[in-house]
Amino acid sequence: MTKKVLVVGEVRQGELRNVSFEAIAAAKQISDGGEVVGLLLGNVSDSLANSMIQYGADRVIIAKHTNLDSYTSDAYSQAIFQVLQEEEPDGLIVGHTSIGKDISPRIAAKLNSGLVSDAISLEVIGEQVIFTRPIYSGKAFEKKMVTDGLIMATIRPNNIQAFQKDETRSGEVTTLNVDIKDLRSIVKDVVRKATNGVDLSEAKIIVAGGRGVKSKDGFKPLEELANLLGGAVGASRGACDAHYCDYSLQIGQTGKVVTPDLYIACGISGAIQHIAGMSNAKVIVAINKDPEANIFSIADYGIVGDLFEVVPLLIEEFKSVAV
Ligand code: FAD
Repeated sequence: MTKKVLVVGEVRQGELRNVSFEAIAAAKQISDGGEVVGLLLGNVSDSLANSMIQYGADRVIIAKHTNLDSYTSDAYSQAIFQVLQEEEPDGLIVGHTSIGKDISPRIAAKLNSGLVSDAISLEVIGEQVIFTRPIYSGKAFEKKMVTDGLIMATIRPNNIQAFQKDETRSGEVTTLNVDIKDLRSIVKDVVRKATNGVDLSEAKIIVAGGRGVKSKDGFKPLEELANLLGGAVGASRGACDAHYCDYSLQIGQTGKVVTPDLYIACGISGAIQHIAGMSNAKVIVAINKDPEANIFSIADYGIVGDLFEVVPLLIEEFKSVAV
C-alpha cells in the first residue's frame, strides 16, 4: 500500500542541510510510490521549498509564524503537530541533528507514537518498514520494525544516499499560517561561532586532532589540510579538555557522531569513547607516533610518525595534485 510521508526540512544559515535531502530519499522509499511532503518552518523562501521538490519531494508546506523564525522546541513541536493533524501522514522523517534529536521525542510523546532514532539505513519488505540503527556506541546494530501507527524516525546524516538534484521537477508549495501559543521560551538573538563554513556533522572529509596536537597552534596545519580538502576540523575530547580547540568540535560518545567519506585522525589514541563517534567513517587514516595506538586497530591506512612532519607532507602532496 502506498503511503504519505512527511519530511521536516532543516535550514541553517539560509540553506537546507544535506540531511534534509537524505530524509527525502528515505521517505520516498517508505512511501512506496505514494507521496512525499516536505515541511519547512519559519521565514523561508520558496526557492528552498523548490529545492526539496528538486531532490524528490512531491509538494512542500511552509508553516509560518513569527515564532518559527528561530528554533525553539516549543514552537516547532506545536507547528509540526498542527501539520500532522491536517495532513495525517503515515510517516514522519527528521534528520538526526541537534534539532531533530530535540523535537522528535516531543512529537512522538505528544502522539503517543513510537520513534526509531538515529537510523542509518532502512528497507521496505511488503508492508513492513525496517530501520537499522547502531547501538552500544556503534559496536553493534539492531533492526527495528515499525508494526503499528506513525512510522517515525530520525536519520543520521551522511548515511542514506540523497537523490540527484532534478531541476525539471516541479510541485505545489503552500503556506500554512500556524497557531503558536503559551511559549515558555523566546529566542531574541542567535550568535554564531565563526567556522570555515563546513558543517562537521555533514562533512565528507574530517581532519581531527587529539591531545597529540599539543596546542591551539598545533591545530593550524590540520585546519590548512581540512581547508585544502574542502573538509572540516574535528577533535577528540582530549584536545577539547586541554583547551586546544572548542568543544563544538568534539567527536565521540559525548560529542558529535560523524560519518564522513574520509576521517584523518591526527594524534588521537583511539579511546572507545572517541571511536563511538567516527568508526562508521568510510575510510579512516590514522597518524600517530605510537605504533601500538588503538586507533590503528580500526584504521584503513595507518601512518606511524610525528603528525607535525606527516601533515605538512600531506598538504604539500595535495597541493601538488591540485595544481
Ligand atoms: P590521548 O589518549 O592522550 O592520545 C594522544 C595520542 O597522540 C597518543 O596516542 C600519542 O601517541 C599521540 N601523539 C602524541 N604526540 C604525537 C605526535 N607528535 N604525532 C603523532 N601522534 C602523537 N573522548 C572523545 O574523543 N570523545 C568523546 O565523546 C568522549 N566521551 C567520553 C565520555 C566519557 C564518559 C569518558 C569517561 C571519556 C570520554 N572521552 C571521550 C575521553 C576518552 O576516554 C579519551 O580520554 C580521549 O578520547 C583521549 O583523547 P586523545 O586520543 O586525544 O588523547
